[in-house]
Amino acid sequence: MDLENKPELEIFLEDLPSKAEKVIKKSKKEAPVWTIEDSENLYGIQGWGDPYYSINAAGHVTVSPQGDRGGSLDLWSLVESLRKRNLGLPILIRFSDILADRIERLNACFAKAIARYNYPGIYQGVYPIKCNQQRHIVEAVIRYGKPYQFGLEAGSKPELMIALATLPPQLDRNEKAPKSLIICNGYKDREYLETALLAKRLGHKPIIVIDQLEDLYLVIDISQKLNIKPILGVRAKLNPKDWGQAKTSIGDRSKFGLTIPEILKMVNQLEALEMLDCLKLLHFHVGSQISNITLIKEAMREASQIYIQLVKMGAKMRYLNVGGGLAVDYDGSHTNFYASKNYNMQNYANDIVGAIQEACEQANIAVPTLVSESGRAIAAHQSVLVFDVLSTSDIPYNPPEPLDNKEHLIVKNLWEIYNSISKKNYQESYHDAIQFKEEAISLFNFGYLSLTERARAEKLYWACCHKILEITRHQDYVSDDLEDLEKIMASIYYVNFSVFQSAPESWSLNQLFPIMPIHRLKEKPTERGILADLTCDSDGKIDQFIDLRDVKSVLELHPILSSKKSTINSDGKSEKILTKDSYYLGMFLIGAYQEIMGNLHNLFGDINVVHIAMNPKGYQIESIVRGDTMTEVLSYVQYDGSDLLESMRRYTEAALAEQKITFEEAQRLLDDYEQSLRRYTYLVADSL
Ligand SMILES: *Cc1c(COP(=O)(O)O)cnc(C)c1O
Repeated sequence: MDLENKPELEIFLEDLPSKAEKVIKKSKKEAPVWTIEDSENLYGIQGWGDPYYSINAAGHVTVSPQGDRGGSLDLWSLVESLRKRNLGLPILIRFSDILADRIERLNACFAKAIARYNYPGIYQGVYPIKCNQQRHIVEAVIRYGKPYQFGLEAGSKPELMIALATLPPQLDRNEKAPKSLIICNGYKDREYLETALLAKRLGHKPIIVIDQLEDLYLVIDISQKLNIKPILGVRAKLNPKDWGQAKTSIGDRSKFGLTIPEILKMVNQLEALEMLDCLKLLHFHVGSQISNITLIKEAMREASQIYIQLVKMGAKMRYLNVGGGLAVDYDGSHTNFYASKNYNMQNYANDIVGAIQEACEQANIAVPTLVSESGRAIAAHQSVLVFDVLSTSDIPYNPPEPLDNKEHLIVKNLWEIYNSISKKNYQESYHDAIQFKEEAISLFNFGYLSLTERARAEKLYWACCHKILEITRHQDYVSDDLEDLEKIMASIYYVNFSVFQSAPESWSLNQLFPIMPIHRLKEKPTERGILADLTCDSDGKIDQFIDLRDVKSVLELHPILSSKKSTINSDGKSEKILTKDSYYLGMFLIGAYQEIMGNLHNLFGDINVVHIAMNPKGYQIESIVRGDTMTEVLSYVQYDGSDLLESMRRYTEAALAEQKITFEEAQRLLDDYEQSLRRYTYLVADSL
């Protein structure tokens, strides 16, 4: 905070209570009390959070990592206690029990569907590593998935290396018992395939999925040289009628998969080499976040028939791998909107089991073991990003000062509009106000309006906007141009994180995540804001938020409050200083695809990560992974911390010699510099 600005800021803050008072008076008139239920509805937490996230009686977000089967914790208190451990915000909090619960749930849903349809086969899922490759998470998936023989899916060579070294091989198991699978997808070269084949000798069960014909020739060659029989799968390109938004992953032109003529060619080739018995798995993947269950049903119908045909042609088929796509309801609307899904996990499992069961029964062939590669549905819920608001910027909305007769005509015109705004003419008034404001700027540009007059005109314009906005908020319908008003008038909340580093999908793919305050939920959120991050990039903002209908362009937030706190000043006297109260926001369901895509933007590094596990007495912190320090981040771009410090030392020596800086100043500068190098790259909210 710039010291020179301090007095002014204090005045501004002294004004704050009156603004808050105004708010309270107003809300008393409109809605007598704001309740927790109001917050639940506003932020839709039951829709997207159930059963893990809810609001408690204190008006804080609570986390129940084991759903309704276990204890819960107060997220706000957790963050406060982490801060006492000197762990700065932003913090990514992962709840490993949620991950465990997701894996259990997925398996339970398939078990239930299998029982319901009397399906004579089993389900054996795999976790696609690309969804979140963090070691802690992959290891936890293996741990929690063990009772279900849950395996891993690798989509690249590095992921295969993770899978082979992390999943314990099962050398001594009898051949009949199911083994966890390693599904080998993606681009493959000789080394990839050799490694995958040799891993069979360790006791792994790698299934090499042919998703380009070239892969086949290479596998045949390598397996003959190594004399190891491969377990092969084939990825089919499907052609469902209802493409929805999954355009990129299906159809003849998608990147991966074989068309029907290519599959036929593969079968013939394998047959000619007497290797058709190696083909055991059929795979398809219609895309991620499939919002509409119809697409999955159609894909299942087509895939079931391909499976049956492969059996009839003599392949020793055993597995049907239905890929990923099981969606997460980010906005909680339970619809086929892209941020939602119109089905639940049980519907998904039922439709898959039901479709293949019926098809196999009709064709009178044995049913396959079912495999799915659900990533998002397993990993999304476990992670919450908590960050604080550093400051806000809003458009002032004090009622304008009364008109002075000598004022410029344009000011008088705007004043007149302001006074006459009503429910009947607000739309017309809005257009007039815009026109006069534009005119005021032209007059200024030609030298006909003083700076003071222009300021007066702009203030009046904003006052008009406020008045009009108040009216539109109570209308059932507002026209498009007025809908933008909410966006134009939104406060900017400057938040302590980098969208690029911590929420890249939100930035690059327009993905929506639930965002809400994690406390003060008994209080009406009277402000409407957008979030701007720490980077200098104008793209570093979030201005789309989940809503039950479509998306909203502003988020309801609370005003930042300040309070007087006593401290001891340098003379040893007790002193009351004004400090801003912390205001914490949470971004939820970000465990899938978010954490890894981050890049170093403006050199904000990795953030602090903590892992929380529940125990019978409450919770415990399993591990803390500290975020990057300045030195670490700088080294990624080849700067050496000690070189930088040395160069600063030289410059201060030179300035000292010239008597441009005092010894105290020089020492302070170097101390600050040196300490910063060891610090977290994010900001520490300061007292004013
Ligand atoms: C990305 C991907 C997945 C995971 O999809 P989710 O929607 O996260 O379940 C599974 N299989 C393949 C082949 C993929 O490319």
